[in-house]
Amino acid sequence: MTEVAEAPGAERAQELKRIKHWINGTPVAGDSGRSGPVYNPAAGIQTGEVDFASVEEVDRAVQAAKEAFASWRAVSLSRKTEIFFRIRALVDEHREDIAKILTAEHGKVLSDAKGEVARGLEVIEFCCGIPELLKGGFTEQASTGIDVYSIRQPLGVCAGITPFNFPAMVPMWMWAPALACGNTFVLKPSEKDPSASVYTAELLKEAGVPDGVFNVVHGDKVAVDAILEHPEIAAVSFVGSTPIARYVYETGTSHGKRVQALGGAKNHMIVLPDADIDMAADAAVSAGYGSAGERCMAVSMLVAVGDAGDELIGAIKERLPKVKVGDGMQPDSEMGPLVTREHRDKVASYIDKGRDEGATVVTDGRESAPDGGGFFLGVTLLDDVKPEMDVYKDEIFGPVLGVTRVGTYDEAVRLVNENPYGNGVAIFTRDGGVARQFQFDVNVGMVGINVPIPVPVAYYSFGGWKNSLFGDLHVYGPEGIQFYTRGKVVTSRWPDPATSKVDLGFPQTR
Ligand code: NAD
Repeated sequence: MTEVAEAPGAERAQELKRIKHWINGTPVAGDSGRSGPVYNPAAGIQTGEVDFASVEEVDRAVQAAKEAFASWRAVSLSRKTEIFFRIRALVDEHREDIAKILTAEHGKVLSDAKGEVARGLEVIEFCCGIPELLKGGFTEQASTGIDVYSIRQPLGVCAGITPFNFPAMVPMWMWAPALACGNTFVLKPSEKDPSASVYTAELLKEAGVPDGVFNVVHGDKVAVDAILEHPEIAAVSFVGSTPIARYVYETGTSHGKRVQALGGAKNHMIVLPDADIDMAADAAVSAGYGSAGERCMAVSMLVAVGDAGDELIGAIKERLPKVKVGDGMQPDSEMGPLVTREHRDKVASYIDKGRDEGATVVTDGRESAPDGGGFFLGVTLLDDVKPEMDVYKDEIFGPVLGVTRVGTYDEAVRLVNENPYGNGVAIFTRDGGVARQFQFDVNVGMVGINVPIPVPVAYYSFGGWKNSLFGDLHVYGPEGIQFYTRGKVVTSRWPDPATSKVDLGFPQTR
């Protein structure tokens, strides 16, 4: 039996749910003797205990995936499409169940959790078109009697390592295209909210995905390192914080793997003086505090240009008291708790830090946090933030929105372009010419024009620039298909005695 780690300072539910690995189509209890606590953040109590995989347990999952690969890659595209349509139907049917699992372990409000599932489902829907996506090129008569064509083939066993903030959607960004392309998969979800991944495994089995094609191992650095060093894993997709993304990219590639590693963010929203200020204020509050700021595409810095600042702050201040913070299972809650007590305390510490550094605390979220044991923090607004302050430089990843004021559009763009992150950015303006120039000027991977959270739809690809992505290819969409396949070009002719002769020269295209 797994040794149960003590959860420091947190109460425990009467009965702890044990979260096991999923290997070769079945739940597998961990035998490493290591495990970690899973909380209900709204109640502030430990509700589960997740098994942490050893190197041997990761290897067992990889061997299952390796065994399954030969037959899964040979399954016809029409059959794979049929299975994907069934996956789509099952995820759709169970979207409420999945959302409840997310709210219970992550804390985000149920409506937001349903939104997460819906956006993940769009990636599954995209993958239902896999025969079209894998089409190659064909050139007839490249040389006399010779045709040339290109095909894309799967890589083998692929792995995904995912963050706590999107426990269903981010894994879907990875396993859906990986499986559709004919790979098999080992997922290592966040140890903070691991249950959605096991639930997904059950749905995939029900949909007809053969045993071994999709596996889940839980754990920490031990499991991650075992994946990065495993000789049978061909490719690794990672989403998480920048230091770990860099580590995963460097370690994975040095072990010969294809790696895409998406990191953290510090997303700016620029508000020009001609913007619709009410629309900008609605967007800032929604994108700054939605999911308690625990989104890699959350707006964390507002850049007010010219005289936009006072009116904007006034409009945001009007809206803040109306944000309903509470248990995500309650239908009227708009913002839930943070994921752990430790993270809540870290985020809250930035309020004092900001004040000490010279920012103005317009609203202090500690004053509006609901009482009780939950990991709650209310909404915080900091004005007069300067780029040299830690509250500007650090990814706070909580409900803390900063405002900085600049004189001109050029200064605003310079701030964004000098920032080490480059995940998302938004500009609010009524001037189409300026918006178009902005899209040309800005060094960020995902740009919103009067749209605060510009997460691309499933048939484009998602990814940032600079320290927000290590690797060449973005996730899902066309680049996801490219990441999980490799190209092959075939040059072919059929025996024709009329054209056959011995010729020792280099092949000529004539
Ligand atoms: P994290 O980096 O702490 O963890 C991500 C994964 O890495 C988890 O599975 C975790 O178990 C593993 N991990 C943690 N520490 C490790 C270590 N020392 N060695 C090896 N593996 C380790 O990230 P998180 O706190 O779970 O998620 C929040 C972060 O993810 C934020 O920085 C956020 O911006 C980022 N994120 C980015 C995107 C994006 O698309 N760019 C999307 C979602 C989240």
